[in-house]
Amino acid sequence: MKTVTDVAIVLVCGALLFTLLFGVADRRSAVSSADPDPIVIDPGHGGADGGATAADGTEEKTLNLAVALPLRDLLTVMGYPVVMTRTDDTMLHTEGSTLRERKVSDMRNRLALVNTAALTVSIHQNKFPQTQYWGTQVFYSANTEESRVLAESVRSCVVDWLQPDNKRELKRGTEDVYLLHRATRPMILVECGFLSNASDLSKLQEAAYRQQLAFAVAVGTMKYIG
Ligand SMILES: [Zn+2]
Repeated sequence: MKTVTDVAIVLVCGALLFTLLFGVADRRSAVSSADPDPIVIDPGHGGADGGATAADGTEEKTLNLAVALPLRDLLTVMGYPVVMTRTDDTMLHTEGSTLRERKVSDMRNRLALVNTAALTVSIHQNKFPQTQYWGTQVFYSANTEESRVLAESVRSCVVDWLQPDNKRELKRGTEDVYLLHRATRPMILVECGFLSNASDLSKLQEAAYRQQLAFAVAVGTMKYIG
């Protein structure tokens, strides 16, 4: 359920964005009319597929959606057509009886959306055995040069505004990242933070931080489009 505060924050951010990016928004309308394909936002995992789990039991799927929803709201306020792969705690499978089969079906259905999009931003969380690793990292599809440009735009916004000490470089999506490896349209995957790092986890559990992160990703995406 969206609170009044959430809506107010999104509207204020939207107005601020418009002020900051008026020129970009102006050019964007020309881009949109020539290319009406939507921006796809993909909150990773969902339903029986929880993704990674933090030591305190927080599931990745929940944080992914909690970052993706304000990202959707910001881009929508700015006038972009947005399609979500999911808006609640579900998988996208249309067939399969075992979890493994359902995950395959879920990925195929996500890919079908990705490959009709102007661009896709997939939202995930990282986890590593050693707890000291922290910070957002952006992966890109190697299938299109634009994916790397989009990834750099988002990375630089996150670092400039939220994580000035983050030295993580962009990473090319390898074969084991199903969607990035098969995307034929520009696509990035944002690993927002490490569930294995106490500081990242506690920040990601705060709505205000998630909104700031969504704001940085939204501006990075709009700068790329503009
Ligand atoms: Zn994930």
